[in-house]
Amino acid sequence: MSICLNDKIFEALSSVFTEEKVRGYVIGGWVRDCILGRNHPEKDIDIVVIGSGIEIAHKAALKINPGINVSVFKNFGTAMFRHHEYEIEFVGARKESYDRGSRKPVVENGTLEDDLRRRDFTINTLAISLNQDTYGDFLDPFNGMNDLKKKILRTPLDPDKTFSDDPLRMMRAIRFSTQLNFTIEEKTFASIAENAERIKIVSPERIITELNKIMMCEQPSKGFLLIEKTGLLKIIFPELDNMKGIDTIEGKAHKDNFLHSLKVLDNICRKTDNLWLRWAALLHDIAKPATKKYIPETGWSFHGHEFLGSKMIPDIFRKLKLPLNEKMKYVQKLVDLHLRPIVLSQEVVTDSAVRRLLFEAGDDVDDLMMLCEADITSKNEAKKTRHLENFRIVRNKLREIEEKDAMRNFQPPVDGSEIISAFGINPGREVGIIKNAIREAIIEGIIPNEHEAARKLMLEKGKEIGLTPVEPAI
Ligand code: ATP
Ligand code: MG
Repeated sequence: MSICLNDKIFEALSSVFTEEKVRGYVIGGWVRDCILGRNHPEKDIDIVVIGSGIEIAHKAALKINPGINVSVFKNFGTAMFRHHEYEIEFVGARKESYDRGSRKPVVENGTLEDDLRRRDFTINTLAISLNQDTYGDFLDPFNGMNDLKKKILRTPLDPDKTFSDDPLRMMRAIRFSTQLNFTIEEKTFASIAENAERIKIVSPERIITELNKIMMCEQPSKGFLLIEKTGLLKIIFPELDNMKGIDTIEGKAHKDNFLHSLKVLDNICRKTDNLWLRWAALLHDIAKPATKKYIPETGWSFHGHEFLGSKMIPDIFRKLKLPLNEKMKYVQKLVDLHLRPIVLSQEVVTDSAVRRLLFEAGDDVDDLMMLCEADITSKNEAKKTRHLENFRIVRNKLREIEEKDAMRNFQPPVDGSEIISAFGINPGREVGIIKNAIREAIIEGIIPNEHEAARKLMLEKGKEIGLTPVEPAI
């Protein structure tokens, strides 16, 4: 019996196929990952049925647990259900033909081999029989096992056909290559470069799914370098493509910001699985091309790139179909603040500068420090050690001030409603002015972060802007 059928669920599936006298196979990612010894957190099982996938899904569900809810996708001829940790999808073997303008094929019933040839890569075409008479037998008409052993990604058909039929497969090739550390076979690779333009017919939602999978790899730079090399980058992510290259004036060169960003991304991936912190690392210098200036006395400058960069994020997120929610705001904030800890490490640091950063970064201050440390990509070890040591000092300073002044989750000691009732006013501009004054005074260390001092300042500030307290201040 195949090691890939160890899970008990396959016995139940096998008995359904045998009883129904229908041929069925496990295929795709399950077989590939099991041979690679890869532990997949999600247990997706893809089943190909020579017949109706939908009918067999219902029969299998009935056998495994009559209460299971089967989701049917009639248009695709597929059906799936969940059972414990498994998500099992059934599809009838099919033959496909494509129209050049779309990824949506015309589908008709086909043989197992028809079904395998329309798949993306040979390593995803291995099938294992589930019928009793041939239980556990491998079918491998495209030599997928050989490619798995050699760690090669290759299309089962002429790559031009495979990629032209469904250009999303170009992104999948690069994603699998990055995830599995596989090489894309030469002709397959050349064909991606050749067909790159066709990525335009793929929806951004599908592209971002693959990009995010690349972002979650151990070394996403590998994927981005391939995306660049194939010419896909300038189509799907022009802002990143724009960061490539080095300019030299009067013998002075700046670094390649694309390669630097990829290094920072890889660095942070060693420290965190937080996808959004990874995005912040990739995007932290995104406005460098737009702010680049050569100043004869001082050399290259990217003045304000952190500010402009954070302004560019919403547009990039919108185009890439990344979420336009608090995740985006988090990335914006980190991009905006990414130089601040450096400033704190260089100057004589005042407590108020530290308080201001704690206030602005809030609970994301630890992530910000992680980003700053990942941003050190100097090859000069002495320099690297010096920067790291500086950041260690900044971290200490942040801890010290936070213990004393609790700025990370700053709650104004006098809030809006207290201001409103103190002066008998309506919510409006004055409340904002007084709140700002109190916050600034606390950050600047003029008053402590305490109610009594803040109330006193509120009354003073109110007077200044022409307000009279409802009751005389005590
Ligand atoms: P993972 O689940 O890790 O993304 P997978 O190989 O299981 O990898 P799925 O998207 O779950 O990928 O698809 C299951 C199988 O369906 C694949 O192994 C492949 O055979 C086939 N497949 C999926 N998407 C495509 C596609 N765009 N073109 C051709 N075949 C595909
Ligand atoms: Mg899968």
